Amino acid sequence: MKQKRMAKIVVLTGAGISAESGIKTFRDAGGLWEGYKVEDVATPEAWERQPAVVLEFYNERRRQLLNVDPNPAHQALKQLEEDHDVTIITQNVDDLHERAGSHHIIHLHGELLKVRSTTDEHLVYEWKKDLFIGDMCAKGSQLRPHIVWFGEMVPMLEKAIDEVVKAEIVIIIGSSMQVYPAAGLVGYAPRQSAVFYIDPRPQINYEMRMRPGLEIIEKSAVEGVPELVRRIISIQK
Ligand code: NAD
Repeated sequence: MKQKRMAKIVVLTGAGISAESGIKTFRDAGGLWEGYKVEDVATPEAWERQPAVVLEFYNERRRQLLNVDPNPAHQALKQLEEDHDVTIITQNVDDLHERAGSHHIIHLHGELLKVRSTTDEHLVYEWKKDLFIGDMCAKGSQLRPHIVWFGEMVPMLEKAIDEVVKAEIVIIIGSSMQVYPAAGLVGYAPRQSAVFYIDPRPQINYEMRMRPGLEIIEKSAVEGVPELVRRIISIQK
């Protein structure tokens, strides 16, 4: 029997993959994220200025997340993992890849269902309920959402780069490719790797323009991802 060849596949996902699950992207809504300006809720300055507003914003996002499900795009990526070596690097803070069953997931921008200490970034807790002023870590300081806010360091970046440099295939799904450093990751992929970009309104950034092997699939995630996964599985068999 012929041995199946496992390809090293890195998938970069953005808010668009979760759009058809019912979680809005923010650039599609004219730069507002569920009615909020990003600088009012997703920056360290906003946390300094109005922590209760920031907490309420993430409480709303957390409640919303608990009421939605993974869609066929998340599920197709889980299926791809059965035949190939797949790592998902997501900008999303939702847990829909986990719930679809994918195993190797790097959250570049943090996770909505976790919170952490404001004095010790390594004190991280699972958190499914609302978070309020006065909720403390084990060391007695205020807890904050486990989210990488705009302007903060991206601690998982090195780990993400280590994966991308080994990729034979890169698949970018539902990202406006505007938020750096995440949007620049594709630039680390080997020259010969195939790069696919699935998005109904693709925006080609500098790093993508430099890739001769780029294939743009102008479709929604739920339509485009299962199609591409079927194609990859049939080619590699
Ligand atoms: P973005 O909001 O900047 O861009 C969304 C992209 O998704 C756009 O290019 C749009 O054309 C595309 N899109 C819209 N509907 C789609 C669909 N049905 N299928 C496929 N693509 C679709 O998102 P981004 O580039 O991920 O950057 C957003 C930042 O906001 C990230 O830092 C992320 O942490 C945060 N965010 C996260 C979530 C989430 O966790 N689900 C949701 C909103 C924003």
